[in-house]
Amino acid sequence: MTAEPYLLTPGPLTTSRTVKEAMLRDWGSRDGQFIALNTRIRSRLVELIEGGDAFVAVPVQGSGTFAVEAMIGTLVPRDGKLLVLVNGAYGTRIVRMAQVIGRAVTAIETAEDLPVSPEALDRALAEDAAITHVAVVQCETTSGILNPIAEVAAVVARHGRALLIDAMSAFGALPLDARALPFQAVAASSNKCLEGAPGMGFVIVRRTALEQAKGNCHSLSLDLHDQWRGFEANAQWRFTPPTHVVAAFAQAMDEHEAEGGVEGRGGRYRNNLRILVDGMRALGFQTLLPDSLQAPIIVTFRMPADPAFHFQTFYDRLRDRGFVIYPGKLTVADSFRIGCIGRLGAEEMNAAMQAIRETLAELGVASGAP
Ligand SMILES: *Cc1c(COP(=O)(O)O)cnc(C)c1O
Repeated sequence: MTAEPYLLTPGPLTTSRTVKEAMLRDWGSRDGQFIALNTRIRSRLVELIEGGDAFVAVPVQGSGTFAVEAMIGTLVPRDGKLLVLVNGAYGTRIVRMAQVIGRAVTAIETAEDLPVSPEALDRALAEDAAITHVAVVQCETTSGILNPIAEVAAVVARHGRALLIDAMSAFGALPLDARALPFQAVAASSNKCLEGAPGMGFVIVRRTALEQAKGNCHSLSLDLHDQWRGFEANAQWRFTPPTHVVAAFAQAMDEHEAEGGVEGRGGRYRNNLRILVDGMRALGFQTLLPDSLQAPIIVTFRMPADPAFHFQTFYDRLRDRGFVIYPGKLTVADSFRIGCIGRLGAEEMNAAMQAIRETLAELGVASGAP
């Protein structure tokens, strides 16, 4: 089919040709046009959360995890304490980060197929006055579940603590409005729902919190305060910028805006989700999550019971037909995942469903039922 397969994964993702073409130029880091790109990206990111003058966007070299680690390390003071709401691998990763960088940390764990609990959070904050910050993952990509971010934010605000959001897999497709939902910072990256190339993360931070964060960070390169001061001083990155990735990201953000911003992008993904879930259910497959908890990002399917179904063969045959899917990462159930984000629309999702039907027939799988 296609030489270059479509990536039905949680990232890296399929990007548009124009985003790839934006990388066909070598920019000097002090080039005036490159500096203008950085400034434009930074203000556009703040606009995406309706952050006004209260927020600043600080890009960080590296994958999304680097941005989350910069957020935790810079904003949680050395004598602070972090509470992490965990219902999957990315929440667990934040706990691990806090441990590695030596911050006091505690977690409230929920099963991977259940949302995090605002009620449990409320009790924990009432009981432990030492907790200064709460971290939550907006869409936990491990399962594809949408966490109740507005309820969590309301509880955290009521207790006068600060909220840090890992919105990596949802940013740009699901709304996050700083005027409606109180939070201190949100981290995401260039290559998920914003459909840029991988290699750059960013944190959008409340300006007053960042001003107070000087000297908090355990790390030189991940110090968001320092990185921010650098951008404010001369609109440049402190260290070698990922120039091609930045140029691709600027193009990707233009395309995001042209598609109708968060609403347009989210709408396309919701339609992709519908095609995928309806198509898979018609084949007998079962989703891990009920529709009410499912984010339009990535879907977890239970492993079929049919002995003719062998995941690696299914994966390889689909790959040969031009579609890359993703293994499961769950502890609650044997599963695999199919993403619906990236530069894909109804045509590609229908083609993916056709490839899945053909592959199942070839393997002699009668039903996808678990
Ligand atoms: C993808 C992702 C990350 C970051 O992963 P990287 O591989 O470092 O880019 C963090 N949190 C969530 C929820 C994610 O989906």
